[in-house]
Amino acid sequence: MAGPQPPPCSLPAAAPSPADYKQPFGAEEWRCLGHQLVDWLADYQAGIGRWPVRSQVSPGYLRPLLPAAAPEQPQGLDAILSDVTQHILPGITHWQSPSFFAWFGANTSPPSQLAEMLCSALNVIGFSWISSPACTELEAICMDWLGQLLGLPPCFLSAGGGTGVIQSTASEATLVALLAAKARALAGRPPEDASKVVAYCSDQAHSSVKKACMVAGVQHLRVLPTHAAQQHTLQAAVLEAAVEADRAAGLLPCYVVATVGTTSSCAVDPIPAVGAAAQRLGLWLHVDAAWAGAYALLPELRHHFEGLEAADSLDTNPHKGLLTGFDCSCMWIKDASWARAALSLTPEYLRHAANDLDYKDLQVPLGRKMRSLKLWFVMRMYGAEGLRAYLRNRLECQRAFEALLAGEPRLRVAPGTAPAFGLVCFQLSRPDEAASEALLEAVNATGKVFLVHTKLDGVHTWRLALGSTNTQRCHVEAAWAVIQQALDNREQEQQQQQL
Ligand SMILES: *Cc1c(COP(=O)(O)O)cnc(C)c1O
Repeated sequence: MAGPQPPPCSLPAAAPSPADYKQPFGAEEWRCLGHQLVDWLADYQAGIGRWPVRSQVSPGYLRPLLPAAAPEQPQGLDAILSDVTQHILPGITHWQSPSFFAWFGANTSPPSQLAEMLCSALNVIGFSWISSPACTELEAICMDWLGQLLGLPPCFLSAGGGTGVIQSTASEATLVALLAAKARALAGRPPEDASKVVAYCSDQAHSSVKKACMVAGVQHLRVLPTHAAQQHTLQAAVLEAAVEADRAAGLLPCYVVATVGTTSSCAVDPIPAVGAAAQRLGLWLHVDAAWAGAYALLPELRHHFEGLEAADSLDTNPHKGLLTGFDCSCMWIKDASWARAALSLTPEYLRHAANDLDYKDLQVPLGRKMRSLKLWFVMRMYGAEGLRAYLRNRLECQRAFEALLAGEPRLRVAPGTAPAFGLVCFQLSRPDEAASEALLEAVNATGKVFLVHTKLDGVHTWRLALGSTNTQRCHVEAAWAVIQQALDNREQEQQQQQL
């Protein structure tokens, strides 16, 4: 990294005899090492443009570069950081680059990283209230704070009887909601009815719905078709027809996932209509807003989140959209008793006076980090206004890209999509799968940007997802220049072939 190199921190050699063993990392060594690492992190952020956005290494690149065994003698941080720079960074796909437009971003920020240091230093395992009361209580408070900022219906906030819990990922939230739905549907029924449980989602829902069914032993998942004419959204009538057919066949429909901001194209399922159908049909409605949920902070986009009061649970990932490092997936449950019915387990050694507050009963693992710290730091150090300003800047970048796209006859916005929540789906105006794939590879091989594709109605489609903390309009314009260059190069090659 550029910049002056501080002298290496002095470390006492490890004590040789077990009798006078002493940890080599006392407070002063820790302070020195910590400063050295924070300097490195700040330099990394400042110099991130030096690295190709998408790693350009080949599988197996690392093993020949590192020793075959761990060292016998202690090594210093400077030696390790030098290896990180030389050998690890080339194998990193730089998610924090302002020119990272792939998948959905996972953005972090200095406030989040500071909180992660604190979290790792306290390193509490907050499965139960007594295991660290502040871990449980700060989480509940932060979930109320964020829920209020997002304008959630009061039924999801603690004052309204709701429960907020931070999961590691949206996939886990989808699973926990399914387990709760299954427990509710099977209450008072014979155990063999478990084989009759049916779950529903659209063909645009995230693959984690299928994974949840695999894990939960749900044998029937109906993946309902969507169409470009309805912007690839789940239609309540299609859901109702499927549920009725399953009921007629003696099955037990119990769970539907609706998405606000689908992974392929940021489609928004009509929550009011799907919610009304779910209530009528007695289905548990889980709303997956993993990516788009952050945008409920903006009053001008709130309409996409109307009707949430009909949902039983919902989830959004601040680790995708809200400047908070992975992992932080925020799930709200209207009536948490069904999730507890599915997941609570208190062996003798975990009994204490306030077991009803334990978060262990609202998740799959027992152990859990104090993830609320980073959300708390981010909400405090940006303020709601700072978070809104950040999201609005992303929308500005999205509009800038849309404007460039509108002036380029060789490309078009993908039919059946509308740019939203910082995502633009676009295609060759004359679809040609092989050409589209080759062009995207040429774009990514420059190392200057990184985008990935999806398929919409069978057509190879590029996605520009604005998710990085430091992305500005200039980075979008630079990405556009790379795309144009790739298109020009291809045209020239074609002309030469014709000559
Ligand atoms: C990213 C995404 C997920 C999966 O997120 P994880 O937190 O990695 O499990 C689920 N649903 C949607 C809509 C997503 O965009």
